[in-house]
Amino acid sequence: MTSSDDYKALESKYYMQVVNRMPPVLVRGEGTRVFDNDGKSYLDFTAGWAVLNIGHNHPAVTEAIRDQAGKILQMSNLFYTTPQLPLAQIIVDNSDVDRVFFCNSGAEANEGACKVARKWGKLHLDGAYEIITALDSFHGRTQAMMAATGQPNYQDNWKPLMPGFVNVPYNDVQAIKDAYVEGKTCAVLLEPVQGEGGVNIPSENYLKEVMDFCHDKNILFMLDEVQTGMGRIGTLFGYQKFPSVEPDVMTLAKALGSGAPLGAFTTKEFCSVLEPGDHGSTFGGNALTTAAGAAAAKVLVDEDIPAMADETGAYFQGKLKALAEMHDCITEVRGMGLLIALEMSKDISGAVVTGALPKGLLINAVRPNMIRFMPPLNVSNDEIDEAVEILDRVLAEAGK
Ligand SMILES: *Cc1c(COP(=O)(O)O)cnc(C)c1O
Repeated sequence: MTSSDDYKALESKYYMQVVNRMPPVLVRGEGTRVFDNDGKSYLDFTAGWAVLNIGHNHPAVTEAIRDQAGKILQMSNLFYTTPQLPLAQIIVDNSDVDRVFFCNSGAEANEGACKVARKWGKLHLDGAYEIITALDSFHGRTQAMMAATGQPNYQDNWKPLMPGFVNVPYNDVQAIKDAYVEGKTCAVLLEPVQGEGGVNIPSENYLKEVMDFCHDKNILFMLDEVQTGMGRIGTLFGYQKFPSVEPDVMTLAKALGSGAPLGAFTTKEFCSVLEPGDHGSTFGGNALTTAAGAAAAKVLVDEDIPAMADETGAYFQGKLKALAEMHDCITEVRGMGLLIALEMSKDISGAVVTGALPKGLLINAVRPNMIRFMPPLNVSNDEIDEAVEILDRVLAEAGK
């Protein structure tokens, strides 16, 4: 069994049909490139879904996993665990939060954050439990996170939704103020830049004003940095792009484990309200995933990869804007760091993605008229040139 068709047959017979997959069977990755089972190479501008921020198969991560696998993989959280604790220290030392809890995914990280918020409400706000989130947000796919995720297509088939969430327009401070109810609202949960919602960048003061409002009302200001964290938008944590903004609670996942399934929710000391017995996770923060995470975080910090993302992101956006001059169908290029979207006047993103594939470029159609780019943060300018050249050819056909 070797061909793509063989795998396609297996998938259609045995796997739940929850995604429309593309033909390549990817078997190896190196830096920005992945290789299929025929040896064909692709530039991976999805980075395993904004996960491989220092590229596929980074030697430091591979070595850390190999080394850890030879020692111990998993232990009960009743005992002190390394490299869990050094990774927590890297996060705290480089951010404004004080405490970390490791889990296994972004949805779980946000669940944990919401537990912190509800306990905060119980302790300090007469049992307030409701959390304000944004329309076009994405917070994960558990029962509660579907209610938090303000997009009808993630909610409609699973109603009634879990109570305790209200979705308001993003980038609209007044909408949050209007949704706030004293004694009912305990927190606001937002992405610093909306990723799955189409790379929506808020106006400069939005997060600061929301934060100030939260502090005024003694409710928690929580940021979902699952996609924006670990350097993606040009600073180690996304909120650091916005002057004077500091979350009370911050969640991480995606790039945190550099391919190992690892998430975290983090809090400032004043709202670190969980006590023994309040929360737990069998696998959360185990030795294998945190070995990968600690190695990756060390590379990100030591080599200042977030600054590279900022610089390369500006280069990439410049190239895409030049491309927009040549293709009328491109209506907007926007982004921050290496989270970039290209918006088109027609619903052709599916055709662009399919057209780019045989030419050796993997990209994401985040909306019917919108392409999202999230390459590894250490992508080279040459690789960006190559990707833009492929896009140029694809748009010449698909954009007609
Ligand atoms: C991907 C994502 C999640 C969900 O993460 P999972 O690991 O898939 O559960 C949550 N929030 C944001 C902002 C994301 O981009």
